[in-house]
Order: sequence, then C-alpha cells, then structure tokens
Amino acid sequence: MTATPPPGEPLIALRGVTKTYGQGQAAFQALRGVDLSIEAGEFVAIMGPSGSGKSTTMNIMGCLDVPSGGSYLFRNIPVERLDRNQRALLRRHYLGFVFQGFNLLARTSAQENVELPLLYRGESAASRHALAREALASVGLAGVGHHTPAELSGGQQQRVAIARAIVTRPAVLLADEPTGNLDTHTSREIMELLTGLNRDRGITVLMVTHEPEMAAYAHRVIHFRDGRVASDERNGGTG
Ligand code: ADP
Repeated sequence: MTATPPPGEPLIALRGVTKTYGQGQAAFQALRGVDLSIEAGEFVAIMGPSGSGKSTTMNIMGCLDVPSGGSYLFRNIPVERLDRNQRALLRRHYLGFVFQGFNLLARTSAQENVELPLLYRGESAASRHALAREALASVGLAGVGHHTPAELSGGQQQRVAIARAIVTRPAVLLADEPTGNLDTHTSREIMELLTGLNRDRGITVLMVTHEPEMAAYAHRVIHFRDGRVASDERNGGTG
C-alpha cells in the first residue's frame, strides 16, 4: 500500500456519518449525518462550538472510533469494516496525532518520546535513534533530545509531540487544538511549523481550533454545529 489514494478518490471521505453515544433513553446523537471529502495535501481547520461534534469526527477520521451509521472511507477503505487490529495498523502507518496537552511521557527524554512510535513498529534501535534525531531537527529541536518534557517550554514540548507524530512519515496529521495551551507568539510558531510540514512534505493536516487566527493558516475551514457540517469554505490562508 502507498500513502496515495487511487486516482480521483479523496484521501478521506465521510458519507452520511452518524454517531450515537449510549442507548435507549440515554442515547445521544453526536453526529447527525456528516458528508465530507478531504484530498491529499489539504490543510483543514475544524471549528465550532463545544459539543458540536468536532472531537467525535476527529476520532472517526483518526480511526480511533467508527461511525454508528454511514461510512468512513480512508483511501477508499471502509474503516468501519476493519477490526481493531486492522484499524491500529492503519493508524500506525498513515496517521500522526498531536494534542492540546502535548501528551508526552514525563520522565522520558524528548528523544525517547519521539522514538516511541518506531518502537511499536519494531524498528531497530539504530534506526530509531537516527529517525528520531532527524525528526527533532526538522522541528527545530536539534540538540535537546536528552531533555525531559519538564525541562522544556510549552512550545518546545509541542514541537517534540509534532516530531513524535511525524517520525513515522504519516500521510495525515490530526491535531486537536494544538495551540490551546500556548501563548499567541508560540502558537504562531507552531502554526508556521504545521504549515511547513503541509507545504514541504505534503502531509495532510486536520486541525481542530477555537482560534480564528490559527484557523486562518489553513486552506479550508469547516464549521460544525449540532453534529453537522454548518459551513465548509476555502481560505486564503497565511501559509
Ligand atoms: P466537540 O469536540 O465539538 O466539543 P464532541 O464530539 O466531543 O464535541 O461531542 C459531541 C457531543 O457528544 C457532546 O454533546 C458530548 O457530550 C457527546 N459525547 C461525546 N463523547 C461522548 C461519550 N463517550 N459518551 C457520551 N456522550 C459523548
């Protein structure tokens, strides 16, 4: 398999996706029919009020969860038909994740944090060291690999998390409020970094954000409301 979808097919397609949490009286429909296509190489910002279904959609696009109804196609593969192990394999090969809270292992060096996804993949120690060093250098952190997260600033920690997400050379980077814990200046630096990864490496970036200034870096902004896509617009973008 390659990271390129078949010609003419979007990289990601949600077709009438619904998601219901709970059962019976307590059932809640978080997604009420989402249709969405994303091409390889896009940089998409996902916005919308709290509870509108952004995280649910990101979890489905990240192959962490499956729709209750409709279909999620990743490279034309219906993800809901895969079992847990197959979904994990898909994640490991194609997807990288970045979170608001960085989610780094606290007592572990930056270098080892970045090596972790390669360990799961069964890479040799020598290859892990080299790839992680390269990933850290590509996010501007050459030479800080031996520091633990506590010894790094918030912006540096998010860079380590981004290095960890890209060390496996994913096709898609899913970022859930990646600048939510950072000041404006540092947020802009992180957005420049994501813009560069999208532009120079062709990584498709899907990012949830509450901040219009950060969404402006994306080429496309999708607004969710009440479990549906309320608007889906092209953006001039600053990157
Ligand atoms: P957003 O990310 O836009 O804030 P979410 O996708 O997290 O929205 O949630 C959409 C709705 O689904 C919310 O009302 C939320 O309370 C509900 N929800 C999300 N996850 C669960 C869950 N695991 N169990 C029950 N309800 C959930």
